[in-house]
Amino acid sequence: MIKNAIVVGAGIVGLATARALTYKGYQVKIIERSDKAVGASIRNFGMVWPIGQPAGLQFELAMRSKYIWQEIADKAGIWYHEAGSIHTAYNNEEWVVIQELYEIFKSEGRNVELLNKEGVIQRYPEVNAENLLGALYSGTETIVNSRFAIPAIADYLQSTLNIQIEFGKSVLHVENNLVYTTDKVYEADLVIICNGADFETLYPAIFQAQSITKCKLQMMRFKHRAPDYNIGTSLCGGLSLTHYDSFKAAPSLDKLKERYKSELPDYVSNGIHVMVSQNNLGELTVGDSHHYGLTHDPFDEAEINSLILKYLKGFCNIQDWELQQTWNGTYAKLTNGASHFFQQVEKNVYVFNGLGGCGMTLSFATAEMVLESI
Ligand SMILES: Cc1cc2nc3c(=O)[nH]c(=O)nc-3n(C[C@H](O)[C@H](O)[C@H](O)COP(=O)(O)OP(=O)(O)OC[C@H]3O[C@@H](n4cnc5c(N)ncnc54)[C@H](O)[C@@H]3O)c2cc1C
Repeated sequence: MIKNAIVVGAGIVGLATARALTYKGYQVKIIERSDKAVGASIRNFGMVWPIGQPAGLQFELAMRSKYIWQEIADKAGIWYHEAGSIHTAYNNEEWVVIQELYEIFKSEGRNVELLNKEGVIQRYPEVNAENLLGALYSGTETIVNSRFAIPAIADYLQSTLNIQIEFGKSVLHVENNLVYTTDKVYEADLVIICNGADFETLYPAIFQAQSITKCKLQMMRFKHRAPDYNIGTSLCGGLSLTHYDSFKAAPSLDKLKERYKSELPDYVSNGIHVMVSQNNLGELTVGDSHHYGLTHDPFDEAEINSLILKYLKGFCNIQDWELQQTWNGTYAKLTNGASHFFQQVEKNVYVFNGLGGCGMTLSFATAEMVLESI
């Protein structure tokens, strides 16, 4: 007999879980509180970002997830761009870290290149040449346009994998395979809760016992006046070298962090590192800051956006960029260094959460992996 499963939440984690359950033979229903996904999964850069993942399992999960993204996108007509990425260096400490990472990543077999100043400018003329020393190019990064990709994946799962999605319905309570919603009680053989940053509502005690918090990020979107303006790749400044786990492998990273602490204290205290991705509409998504805690001020700080823009100007020519939108997003973040958590909370009820700033990069393959144990 076919078993049925209910997934709570239609963000990327819920969608990836539903997909993986279908391939395990379950008939799947997703229940999503909002009329469409409006959480972290549509508020991000759309960066599928293997370069940020450490060698071994995490990098493999990122590459497998990227493959699944592309497979779904090709089938469903979803836009993506294998844009790659560059991390730029404008001082000696950044340049040393980048050279160290290049050697490490090359020895791991990653698709990386070390570009000198001329090499960067030749390929990416929008990068600011003044004081530029060089950059680390990586060929593994892909950009999706999350606002459109996430609903399109939901459509694809419904039309192609026969997954049902009930939007606009809150799950109020789960108990013994019974899922209580606003208007109906559903029964399932398996329930997986993928409720993202809203982790206080269902099984609050389980979450309270986790090393979990929330991270709020401020973001901006620009458009260039010229319709064919193209930055060519995803651009990152040196501060991003302090952000991703894979970069911890560089022996000189601590020295670089010390420099930032003394030269850029406002950036360090607001968790700011600056990246730009460009989508199929020509829009330039720019961010971001990182503030941690269970309750966040709902308002955006103009000062933080100014800091981000000031730093951006250091590595990118932003003349004629027009601000289109600003927003913030929040994701659930584990504070114990783990990449996710997947835990049984009752017979046949599990929670899957905590992918932090890497949900777009890791969800598809991580969902497959965690479900292997069921
Ligand atoms: C600004 C920003 C930039 C980011 N950039 C990147 C990036 O470039 N690359 C990357 O890999 N990651 C990035 N991330 C991280 C990534 O977006 C998250 O890891 C991921 O979206 C988390 O997915 P999720 O499904 O857990 O959460 P969400 O997308 O928030 O989805 C959770 C869903 O559960 C629903 N829900 C909650 N409770 C209930 C309930 N009781 N009943 C029914 N439905 C419920 C919510 O309505 C919501 O739709 C970024 C995040 C942010 C905020």
